Amino acid sequence: TEHLLEVEDLKVNFTTYGGEVQAVRGVSFFVDKGETVAIVGESGCGKSVTAQAIMGLIPSPPGRVAGGKVVFAGREINQLSKKELLAIRGSQIGMVFQDPMTALNPTMKVGAQIVEGFVRSQNVSREKARERAIEMLRLVGIPDPEQRIDQYPHQFSGGMRQRVVIAIALACQPQLVIADEPTTALDVTIQAQILDLLGRLQKEQELSVVIITHDLGVVAEIAHRMVVMYAGIVVETGTVQDVFASPRHPYTWGLMRSLPRLDEGEKQRLVPIEGTPPDLFDPPKGCPFAARCEFAMEICEQQVPAEAQFGDGHKAACWLHDPRAPRIEELVAAGR
Ligand code: SF4
Ligand code: MG
Repeated sequence: TEHLLEVEDLKVNFTTYGGEVQAVRGVSFFVDKGETVAIVGESGCGKSVTAQAIMGLIPSPPGRVAGGKVVFAGREINQLSKKELLAIRGSQIGMVFQDPMTALNPTMKVGAQIVEGFVRSQNVSREKARERAIEMLRLVGIPDPEQRIDQYPHQFSGGMRQRVVIAIALACQPQLVIADEPTTALDVTIQAQILDLLGRLQKEQELSVVIITHDLGVVAEIAHRMVVMYAGIVVETGTVQDVFASPRHPYTWGLMRSLPRLDEGEKQRLVPIEGTPPDLFDPPKGCPFAARCEFAMEICEQQVPAEAQFGDGHKAACWLHDPRAPRIEELVAAGR
């Protein structure tokens, strides 16, 4: 069957004074109707750039999509004109960004900003649109929506503003919502409320959601499947259940070790992954994680790892899963 969103071998480069940065280097994944897919990785791994490319929002110059395609609802959308893309973004794909203030117009009442969404995408009267905007504010959990609709963004708290942004994103009744670090700027309690809200809306509205995050806690909370990115490529993907239960890539192991464990309470110990990601002006020839990987073998520096499959779409790009590689237990025993 056809996926709602399919990203195939996407490549995005940025020209800088230092040369051309290969920010996204052949990323593939899909999103089905009604599911939430998390794209996870450290800052600079290419996750936000991937999201921007899906929405046709790569600033060009300095950026350009250097290869691959993005197919949404059966249409190859990275070939569309700016105008066609704008129409899709306003009607079929909703967006939620990290900082709600950048998504809101500070000089416009929030109701008017929601109404804009309907009026642009559907043929509704102003009056009907206002009614629906009130409904939307209620849907995203804003108290007294009849009063709040005539207020300006600065009259809302950070969490309430993000709710407004979500209401705007949903106003056009999109099939897909792309949320880039939607809770990062918020404090922990508010974060949890916004995640609950996104999860509830996803189910109620049968939305597909792509959530970009560096936070595995967010992934566990909200996503069905996950895509782990490192240095512009996908190193592991699978259902959240599979990847959390049996991660297959050393980078994912590192991410898991750095996750706070709630059951350890105050004594939790975070183990950061040592080292830094490679330079994407001149990406490594082999596995991009080799310089930080405690299991790196000779081949890892020389050849890009083949993708190993573990069933139910669980895949990892790592030489450890090659039948010719030493068993992980042997490497551990040898003091690696
Ligand atoms: Fe480590 Fe090699 Fe696997 Fe890369 S391919 S993650 S360097 S073992
Ligand atoms: Mg980012």
